[in-house]
Amino acid sequence: MHYERDFLKMVVLAAKNADRPLVTCDDCWEQVDQFAEMTLAGKDAGAALPLVKEHIEKCGECSAEFNALLDALRATARLSLFKPDTGS
Ligand SMILES: [Zn+2]
Repeated sequence: MHYERDFLKMVVLAAKNADRPLVTCDDCWEQVDQFAEMTLAGKDAGAALPLVKEHIEKCGECSAEFNALLDALRATARLSLFKPDTGS
């Protein structure tokens, strides 16, 4: 029966779409530095880059990358308070 098959197709597609984040990890990675910078600057990064925010919330890997990036940016911000030592 065609009706039944179409219905099953719809269910499968719906499940697929629910599972899959709207952006891929590659897409997320391209914007995650911007997202992290905005977060550090106290801006609403989630409002500016809602897809990245959603992906980070769903994807453990990108969430870890984001947190690592935040740490790195914080460390860089601290370092930039001092004049870089170009000697030696
Ligand atoms: Zn991801």
